Amino acid sequence: MSVLVYCEVSGGSLKKASLEALSEGKKLAGTLGGAMNAVVIGNGLDAHFEAIKNHGAEKIFAVDAADHDNYIPEAHLIAVTEAAGQAGATVCLIPATTRGRELAPRVAAKLDAGLIEDVTGLDADGGQIVATRPEHAGKVYRTVKSKALPMVVSTRPNNFDAVANAGAGERVDLSIDFTAKAKVVETRKAGGEKIDVAEADRIVAGGRGLREEENFKLVEDLAATLNAAVGASRAVVDTDWRPHSEQIGQTGKVVSPTLYIAVGISGAIQHLAGMTTSKTIVAINKDADAPIFKVADYGIVGDAMEVLPALIAELKK
Ligand SMILES: Cc1cc2nc3c(=O)[nH]c(=O)nc-3n(C[C@H](O)[C@H](O)[C@H](O)COP(=O)(O)OP(=O)(O)OC[C@H]3O[C@@H](n4cnc5c(N)ncnc54)[C@H](O)[C@@H]3O)c2cc1C
Repeated sequence: MSVLVYCEVSGGSLKKASLEALSEGKKLAGTLGGAMNAVVIGNGLDAHFEAIKNHGAEKIFAVDAADHDNYIPEAHLIAVTEAAGQAGATVCLIPATTRGRELAPRVAAKLDAGLIEDVTGLDADGGQIVATRPEHAGKVYRTVKSKALPMVVSTRPNNFDAVANAGAGERVDLSIDFTAKAKVVETRKAGGEKIDVAEADRIVAGGRGLREEENFKLVEDLAATLNAAVGASRAVVDTDWRPHSEQIGQTGKVVSPTLYIAVGISGAIQHLAGMTTSKTIVAINKDADAPIFKVADYGIVGDAMEVLPALIAELKK
């Protein structure tokens, strides 16, 4: 039984979520008693082989061609299913990034495999996959066991550790038979060069408790001090204080950073759906009964306009 991990290269970079999936794939392959291989598709991939090898891949199936500068779902689907066939993969792991959430169901359908999405825990028992995933907007965690293999599993980014563990890293070049029906002309990143909340290791998020758009400067300053991304509740996105690309929650992005600081955010269930898997949650809110404190590891009850300047000054020291 072998595991195949899809490694995502985007904008010339290998996504950290891929290294996390490789590390988890290596463990899973060990439990299942098989090898872990990887598949990567893009243009100019040489720079990424070392990292993929160092995170445990025995074989690295690669489609490296100028046509694949941009993500085209159909091409990636062909590459992954081709690699899965050649590797005899019984489990296919795909990071549950925006791209992975699109690709995983396609791969499952094509391989006639089961699908478990956005998992936060992964293991095997008696040759079957046992996975934990948040459901009902993160209110409950369900553990599911596959009945049969093959399975496609998508792994929640920033949830698993990326652990170095060398594999053979044998490169296997794939040539896929693919003629694009459409061409990507331009990709524009929402939020420009700012750190994307979905990938950030630290996030400072602000809500309606900041009272005015101008006060978000304090959130930005704290984020800059911590080298963190800025996030937002829907309340402030709906009022156009912040762009939707920063919204966290059920109708925004799902994040799992090491540190999540929620400032003036009440902790509505729809917001919690996007951030409760964060490793350490700090809440700053003037209402000691705000629901956000129920999920917070550390809480500061106070006025954000007083707490933030003091916190920034202290951190700058
Ligand atoms: C279908 C649906 C989907 C949704 N999706 C999302 C989503 O993806 N993300 C999301 O965030 N919401 C979402 N919502 C909205 C959600 O229900 C809440 O309305 C929203 O999260 C509230 O945002 P908030 O916490 O910023 O504002 P509020 O709920 O108004 O909370 C403001 C908080 O700030 C505190 N505060 C006030 N003044 C200060 C101060 N000076 N200093 C410190 N604290 C202060 C208050 O005590 C309060 O707790 C969704 C709702 C629905 C119905």
